[in-house]
Amino acid sequence: MKIGFIGLGIMGRPMAKNLLKAGYELTVFDLNTEAVDDVVKAGAKRAAGSAQTAREAEVVITMLPNSPHVQSVMLDDDQVADAMEAGTTLIDMSSINPIASRAIGAALAKKGVEMLDAPVSGGEPKAIDGTLSIMVGGKQEVFDRYRELLGCMGASVVRCGGLGAGNVTKLCNQIVVAINIAAVGEALMLGKKAGVSPEAIYQAIRGGLAGSTVMDAKAPMMMDRNFKPGFKIDLHIKDLNNVLETAKSLDSPTLLTAQVMEMMKVLHADGSGQSDHSALVRFYEKLANEEITRV
Ligand code: NAD
Repeated sequence: MKIGFIGLGIMGRPMAKNLLKAGYELTVFDLNTEAVDDVVKAGAKRAAGSAQTAREAEVVITMLPNSPHVQSVMLDDDQVADAMEAGTTLIDMSSINPIASRAIGAALAKKGVEMLDAPVSGGEPKAIDGTLSIMVGGKQEVFDRYRELLGCMGASVVRCGGLGAGNVTKLCNQIVVAINIAAVGEALMLGKKAGVSPEAIYQAIRGGLAGSTVMDAKAPMMMDRNFKPGFKIDLHIKDLNNVLETAKSLDSPTLLTAQVMEMMKVLHADGSGQSDHSALVRFYEKLANEEITRV
């Protein structure tokens, strides 16, 4: 099967490589030519622009930062949609606003092009291992057609409902992750101020009810002061913005998300937007005038 792949960043690059390993034919594009060179070296064809990836492709996959990028590439500036044949499918794996997913899907439907929204969770390590969690929205029959393809990038592929349901689920995921990271930072700071080592606290509580995948991934990064992304604070701000916009349109309460969003905005203003979101602990460090370390 021929696939067009647009967006070879932290996530898209290893995802594209896993599709090549599984035997799919890929034509790829990114504004960053170094990323394209790397994936071409792994066996993909180079496209001169986004629209060229769609030529002869049964599926186009996008892995871009946010809604305006997908809108621009598909429908406005690059018009990939015009290069797609009726009966082909866009699988947008970017994390975007579900309202935008539905609008893009409606524009594509007029051309006879199907769409799945299929954002992912798991970060770069799971993108490399092909063990992402993939949350999918779209028609059951389109999902069934591409279930195996998605399985080359993810260990879990779950259809959550119609178009947009994947991104609604991803927003729910991002609420839980953001608040959980903040809770870990808040807890380790209290322990440190009280004279108990953060490492001892982490080891003592990680196996109990407080333990979580987030804690296991982010507490060691906080203690080692390793804020190399991973998942950038600026991308998490983008996701929480999509949470707050969606919640507002539905009158759904998001008190804790709003607080963590303010914390992330402070860090962005302070120049930490490109740091991993575990750097949320720095917010507590500023307030407490204390640094989290293992001891
Ligand atoms: P990234 O910034 O590393 O990659 C985005 C890529 O898109 C870049 O290479 C950029 O050059 C390219 N791009 C931007 N505009 C373009 C255009 N008009 N045409 C072609 N290429 C263009 O971001 P990422 O971390 O790979 O994240 C991608 C998506 O996946 C985001 O929606 C993010 O929220 C989501 N996500 C990221 C992670 C993570 O841990 N990094 C985890 C889960 C989901």
